[in-house]
Parts: sequence; C-alpha cells; structure tokens
Amino acid sequence: KAKEKGKNRYAEYSPKMREGIVNVIAVESDLKRALKEKEFEAFFQPIVNLADGSLYGFEALARWVHPERGLVNPGEFIPVAEETGLIVELGRQILEDACSTLSHWRSTHQGAESLTMAVNISAKQFAEATLVAEVESILDRSGLPPGNLKLEITETVVMGDAMESTNRLNLLKSLGLMLSIDDFGTGYSSMSYLQKFPMDQLKIDLSFVRRMEKSPENIEIIRAIVNMAHSLRLRVVAEGIETERQRDLLYSLQCDYGQGYLYAKPLPRAEAELLLEKLK
Ligand code: C2E
Ligand code: MG
Ligand code: MG
Ligand code: MG
Repeated sequence: KAKEKGKNRYAEYSPKMREGIVNVIAVESDLKRALKEKEFEAFFQPIVNLADGSLYGFEALARWVHPERGLVNPGEFIPVAEETGLIVELGRQILEDACSTLSHWRSTHQGAESLTMAVNISAKQFAEATLVAEVESILDRSGLPPGNLKLEITETVVMGDAMESTNRLNLLKSLGLMLSIDDFGTGYSSMSYLQKFPMDQLKIDLSFVRRMEKSPENIEIIRAIVNMAHSLRLRVVAEGIETERQRDLLYSLQCDYGQGYLYAKPLPRAEAELLLEKLK
C-alpha cells in the first residue's frame, strides 16, 4: 500500500515539483542581479498608539522594484531568498535602508526623535554569527540611536536552540535596541521561553485579529495573550487592524499599539514623509 501511495505521489507531484524547481532557479538568479542593482527598498507601515492614534513608529517591509514586473511583494521573493541564503544580503540592505531613513527623519522632522523603526530578521539572518556585528556597524554608520531600532523575530526562529538563541538575543539587546516577537501565536510558543528571552514587545499575528469578531472565544484568546505579555512586562502590538471595530476591541483589551490598513498600508518613503509633517 505504501508503495502504491508513493507511486501516486510521484505521479501527482513530479510536474509541479519540476515547475517549482525551475521557478526557484529563475527567481534566484533574478534576485542575485536585483541585489547587485539595488532594486530592493523598504516601504514603511505606520504603527500607532491605540490610545490616541498618534504615530509610534514604522515597520520596514521589503519591496522589490522590478524593472519589468513593477512592485513585487515579499510573499513572492522572501521564501526563495530564505531558501537560497540570499536573505542575508537582502536583509542587510533593508536594515541599512530602514536605519538611515529614520536617522534622516530624526534630523529633518521635529517630533520624529522618539519614533521607532521595526525591521524583520529571518531565520537564516538570525543564525549568522556575524549578525550582531553587522547590526552594530549599520547602527554606527546610519547614526541611528540603537534605542530607536526594533528587531522583529518570529517565535519559530528563536525556539530552535534555546541556549544559542538566548545568547544571541542577549548580545543584540546589549547593543541597546528593542526586540519583538513577530507573528505571535502562529508557531510553537512556550511561555517559559518567552520569559527567558530578553523581549520588549510581542506582536499578535493578523490571523488572530481577523478571527477576533467571529466568536467570543477568539476575543478571550487575545485577552489572555495581552495579559500574559503585560505580566512579563512586554508591550503588545496588534497587526492587520482593518476596521474601527477591531481597533476598539483591541484597545478595550489593553493592547498597546496597532498597525494595519485602517491606518495605512506600507508606504514608499516619500509618502511616509507626509505623515511626519503632521508631527509636533
Ligand atoms: P510581517 O512581518 O508579519 O509583516 C506584516 C505583513 O502584514 C505585511 O505584509 C503587511 O503589509 C501586512 N499587513 C499589515 N497590515 C495589514 C492589514 O490591515 N491587512 C492585511 N491584509 N495585511 C496587512 P508584507 O509586506 O507582504 O510582508 C509579508 C512578510 O514578509 C512579513 O510579515 C515578513 O515576514 C516578510 N518580510 C517583509 N519584509 C521583510 C524583510 O525586510 N526581511 C525579512 N526577513 N522578512 C520580510
Ligand atoms: Mg514583522
Ligand atoms: Mg508580523
Ligand atoms: Mg504576520
């Protein structure tokens, strides 16, 4: 029976698999070229204080400004970049872009001094022994005070080797930056790990925000996450807020910050700058 199953699987997957491999190779060589040509740029999505809607900071999100395809979203290139290791160079370019952009804004816009910049760090990047030195040198070069930078790391990345992860996270923290757990609730979270890791914030995945209004149980899940986070002295960010009702609910659950299309989509640098004009 197993043999039969294996046979079927082969017949079923082979063409798709080949297509997949060909696609990965095509995207990989295009990615390499694009990294050389500096075709990636950070877009900036506002993160606000839920209490009053004031601007708290931004999340930098990678976009590929492709000469033929136009704007390409991360869903189409991050997986391949991760698989091929090119994410290390891509992540470095986005981190550099994000840090130098906020550093610049701090000098040109009154009220921008305390804004935070969140940058995503992938599994491969986190595993690189050079990560800490790299982050330190990018901070130095950009002139951004470390306290204005926040690195977002998913739970799956840090749950791997807990000892090793704790060491690396402590080294990153010693630079003076903030750490946030991204997509919380989608991986294998362990509360005891959460307590051991030197985290400052926890980000509730948008899938929870989406489900929130579907049933009272889903609201209780978010309430439990927020309470647990606060008892561990972590601030809570909710991502994917699209409606006022979601915002009101999250605020009533004591969630600290929010991000989502209700406020703004990820914006190109020039458009994000328009928001800074309103700061005082
Ligand atoms: P993420 O870090 O969880 O980022 C949040 C994603 O949710 C972004 O998708 C953002 O555009 C989207 N989003 C925010 N608010 C809403 C909303 O109200 N509704 C909906 N439907 N979506 C919303 P994006 O920009 O496509 O990025 C997807 C993922 O790609 C990110 O998820 C992150 O895991 C990864 N990524 C993006 N940029 C980078 C990067 O520079 N480095 C690394 N390592 N990963 C990145
Ligand atoms: Mg993120
Ligand atoms: Mg997230
Ligand atoms: Mg997410």
